[in-house]
Amino acid sequence: MSALDKYIVTDHDVLVIGAGGAGLRAAIESSAHGARTAVICKSLLGKAHTVMAEGGMAAAMGNVDDRDNWEVHFSDTMRGGGYLNNPVMAEHHAREAPARVRELEAWGAVFDRTKDGKILQRNFGGHRYPRLAHVGDRTGLEMIRTLQDHGVHQGLDIFMEMTVVALLTSGGRVVGALGYDRERGRMRVWRAGAVVLATGGIGKAFRITSNSWEYTGDGQSLAYHAGAALMDMEFVQVHPTGMVWPPSVRGILVTEGVRGEGGVLRNSEGRRFMFDDIPDLYKNQVAKDEEEGWRYVCGDKHAQRPPELLTRDHVARCINREIKAGRGSPHGGVFLDIGWIKERLPNAREHIKKKLPSMYHQFMQLAGVDITTEAMEVGPTTHYVMGGVRVDGHTQMSNVPGLFAAGEVAAGLHGANRLGGNSLSDLIVFGQRAGEHAAKFAKDAPSREVDVGQVEAETRRALESFDRPQGENPYAIQSDLQDTMQDLVGIVRTQKEMELALERLAALRARAAKAGVAGHREYNPGWHTAIDLRNLLTVSEAVARCALERKESRGAQFREDFPNKSDECSKYNNVVRKGADGSMILERELLPPMRSDLKAIIEKMK
Ligand SMILES: Cc1cc2nc3c(=O)[nH]c(=O)nc-3n(C[C@H](O)[C@H](O)[C@H](O)COP(=O)(O)OP(=O)(O)OC[C@H]3O[C@@H](n4cnc5c(N)ncnc54)[C@H](O)[C@@H]3O)c2cc1C
Repeated sequence: MSALDKYIVTDHDVLVIGAGGAGLRAAIESSAHGARTAVICKSLLGKAHTVMAEGGMAAAMGNVDDRDNWEVHFSDTMRGGGYLNNPVMAEHHAREAPARVRELEAWGAVFDRTKDGKILQRNFGGHRYPRLAHVGDRTGLEMIRTLQDHGVHQGLDIFMEMTVVALLTSGGRVVGALGYDRERGRMRVWRAGAVVLATGGIGKAFRITSNSWEYTGDGQSLAYHAGAALMDMEFVQVHPTGMVWPPSVRGILVTEGVRGEGGVLRNSEGRRFMFDDIPDLYKNQVAKDEEEGWRYVCGDKHAQRPPELLTRDHVARCINREIKAGRGSPHGGVFLDIGWIKERLPNAREHIKKKLPSMYHQFMQLAGVDITTEAMEVGPTTHYVMGGVRVDGHTQMSNVPGLFAAGEVAAGLHGANRLGGNSLSDLIVFGQRAGEHAAKFAKDAPSREVDVGQVEAETRRALESFDRPQGENPYAIQSDLQDTMQDLVGIVRTQKEMELALERLAALRARAAKAGVAGHREYNPGWHTAIDLRNLLTVSEAVARCALERKESRGAQFREDFPNKSDECSKYNNVVRKGADGSMILERELLPPMRSDLKAIIEKMK
């Protein structure tokens, strides 16, 4: 009898962990290249985080404004990212997104249309021209539905409601993964020639977040413990507009699409405060008054954007400033008003309900607010992580051979700050690339045997909390971790607070090592949380260490003690790795030199 007989073992060429936009697109591509492909996900197929995406996917198709092209999209993405982006990825993304969107259309996605029947595109923060292909405010749902439909007909093997707890390595390369089914708790081994991580983000490391329960940083942590480098982890995007009231819905996203359709931000004095602070980089790209801003929303090509459509980092900080200065709304936010457009549009109520159906429904059902007549109360919410697994810009392979990453779990495309809409396009552009290169890798270097010792050691680690039924409840530790990150490594950061955060994280790690769960493996959410803790602690430490090291304010990172950008800091990315003694090692990595033609594009667009 083999030691692996205790496990349910399957063999594939390519194993994709994650069934969101990136995972499904990677799996479709891998399978199209003839690789036997499996997809694993924690929730049911169709429920991945991507389904929540609202506003749209950015692609320079020029359907609404023919001045748009890949070069403008490239330079918008680089400017938004504070020029810390991997320029090769930004180039691939800008060039390839239109083809990927049209491919979705060919596979059955039903986009909103222009009057002449093209895919409609809407305005979004940081994008110079209307660029977001969308389906009302339910774009993610349409993306998932389309990819899933296409994928299942290609014969993918889908493993739902299963959690991967470790990547398996042999001879320095990845050879599979170990996990368990969440329903019964049975351990499983997936052997594979290549693994694509497409596990999404880390939002559950913070108290207030738009992210779902799945966002516990699993992919970043799995990769890190398997020897991969994580990059740019300090850059955690706080979306400016989440719900603030009632408390049970705090953090739920209010799409940027509201501002794209003309929504304005006001403080308790009724002042449109976004006009008060325009960053230098955008001085010549912002409307001079409210009139011009409205003309931009209506598609006037000669008008500049309203300041509410500046990048998310800036808008979030302006909102934070108003709240701190005592000019906030009754429940600790500011006011976002779309209903005012009735002064300009005769059919405003129907227009709002048609363009923002989910927002109308969300506020009506959850807060009793009719957004066609009343202002919403909104405030910042943790939304997205720009950092993640460092990958090659062409293939998406990490520094661990055979381990690929795509979508939110990967780093590079967005630099210090992501533009809205650039995630959904990221998923399909780099999902496709990861799938293609993973399939090629698996073909060229077929899988090896897994190391049974490693499988058994990782299984013991995954189950050890059952040995301590009297141990501390893992929920209490997770809750304290969320408070630590929210309060000490949140939207405004200081050295003192982040040092304190690192001390607290060390204490939380010690508590996690003694956490216990009662009962058995079937339907045991306490056990699932005990497993999440390792991931949450790993990514939280990476965020805090990188944020402490970067002594400047750029993109999503705002340091009260270093409020300006620094030339020195513009030259490198922060990278963390697991050291031989198990501790986290941080290194500065110089940015790769940018090709002269790409530099010229940035200069031209300034
Ligand atoms: C409310 C909201 C609205 C948004 N709107 C937009 C928008 O309009 N435009 C835009 O560009 N972006 C938007 N975003 C961001 C965007 O939706 C996400 O960044 C993107 O969907 C992430 O996709 P992904 O494929 O990387 O991961 P996900 O879609 O999150 O998929 C992750 C998958 O990995 C699986 N997984 C995770 N860990 C494990 C594990 N250990 N084992 C097995 N499986 C695992 C999960 O079950 C899931 O299937 C929005 C985000 C939110 C929260």
